[in-house]
Amino acid sequence: MDLTTCPQCGNAAEITSRDVLESTDGPIEHAKVVCVSQHWFVLPVASLAAPLRHPTRPQTPAI
Ligand SMILES: [Zn+2]
Repeated sequence: MDLTTCPQCGNAAEITSRDVLESTDGPIEHAKVVCVSQHWFVLPVASLAAPLRHPTRPQTPAI
């Protein structure tokens, strides 16, 4: 599952499909993005936000 950030509300959003659409500059890969708040967008892949990253850093007790 590919995750990104909703351009409208900033919540997590899922990339549900990808398609190559023709444009004046040649074919551009677009992705359909559906957010947890049910916003959806078709955006060029290059304009998608980077996936949310939650680094799992183990908490070491300070003893
Ligand atoms: Zn949203």
